[in-house]
Amino acid sequence: MKLYNLKHQEEVVAFTEALTKGMGRDRGLFFPMQIPALENVESFLEMPFLARSKRIIGAWLADELGQTVVDRLVENAFNFPVKVRRVDSARSVLELFHGPTLAFKDFGARFMAQCLNELAVDEKITILTATSGDTGAAVAHAFYGLENIRVVILYPEGKISSLQEKLFCTLGENIHTIAISSDFDACQELVKKAFVDEDIQSSMRLNSANSINISRLLAQICYYFEAAAVVRTDELVVAVPCGNFGNLTAGLLAKAMGLPIKRFIAATNANDTVPRYLKSGCWQPNPTIATSSNAMDVSEPSNWPRVEVVLKTMGTGLNGLESVSVSEDETKDSLKSLYREGYLSEPHGSVAACALQKSLQGNEQGVFLATAHPAKFKETVEQVLNEKVALPPELEKVKNQKNLSDRMTADFSLLKEYLLAER
Ligand SMILES: *Cc1c(COP(=O)(O)O)cnc(C)c1O
Repeated sequence: MKLYNLKHQEEVVAFTEALTKGMGRDRGLFFPMQIPALENVESFLEMPFLARSKRIIGAWLADELGQTVVDRLVENAFNFPVKVRRVDSARSVLELFHGPTLAFKDFGARFMAQCLNELAVDEKITILTATSGDTGAAVAHAFYGLENIRVVILYPEGKISSLQEKLFCTLGENIHTIAISSDFDACQELVKKAFVDEDIQSSMRLNSANSINISRLLAQICYYFEAAAVVRTDELVVAVPCGNFGNLTAGLLAKAMGLPIKRFIAATNANDTVPRYLKSGCWQPNPTIATSSNAMDVSEPSNWPRVEVVLKTMGTGLNGLESVSVSEDETKDSLKSLYREGYLSEPHGSVAACALQKSLQGNEQGVFLATAHPAKFKETVEQVLNEKVALPPELEKVKNQKNLSDRMTADFSLLKEYLLAER
């Protein structure tokens, strides 16, 4: 698989290089030179999820890695189920939260971890990343116990829910967590400094494992096929709850490979840069607003350049995408009405379900993506529904475990000392 840098088209790299580098020159995103077209998609839809996913990833990576390696990576990464349930006469839900940290980020993080562990064996890697919740948990679990990889995760002390904290700060072994006595921006600033520090760069291989890594998108293509395999119709509409638009990019790539999806709806919360852009043609990000679907509180989505390129490749341009912004009130109403239909959701899935309902027409059948388990957003869900939400075993198990985090002030010299000392 060959990829090029969207900012400098002459920079062409193989998958392994894109995986380890993350970004190209001038922080440009890597994009595939070619999107493989599947022959006989119908036969793919007949296969079970794992077998099918091996073939899908193989279409991208078998030329570089061989199908045997691809099979092993997929099998190790996707060790949890993906489920499709019917919600009402026109809507079904694709549940992506059955992984170890109860959010869809497990798919991308676990696949990326397996790739790095398999392909970057010459030297120990340090994954250094800042998190405000979901990403850190997914990264910590994905890399836990992998021999050649040390993980250091920074997070703002007291700014994430204690349950969320327990989910990734209780693992130990190769997972090191540091509570920084400041905010998320300060954590991100520390990480950025480490990536440009010469002493650190010359003594270890750093990787940020962040959400723009191409390996994550390849993993996420697979579950769109599951939606189409279960909801069999030629009028399939898929609504994706969007933050950085990585998930939507993967869906569009699935369609570009030949998956029969009639159209996509990019659902956003009040952070509506994209829906406004599709209407006006002007890209005008506003300051980010805090909402109950906080993993979607993004006003400058990092994967947007990739979305534009896939749409162009498919020949539709921006007309090929609809985007709907959903308010806080609508999100809560959607959560309530799903519950009345017998489906317990959480804010992110509810945004997508609402956008889907607004947009479905005629004989269309819709699928919305449920990106997190309702228990992860317990407080909001309980407050909206006035019902208790039970903890799933994954969360129940860690609730009383000891938090193993170190604590640190937001001082780069301390972080540097830590990184250089403990290797
Ligand atoms: C990250 C996240 C999103 C947004 O996904 P993008 O790929 O960034 O668009 C939506 N819901 C949940 C629960 C998330 O953690």
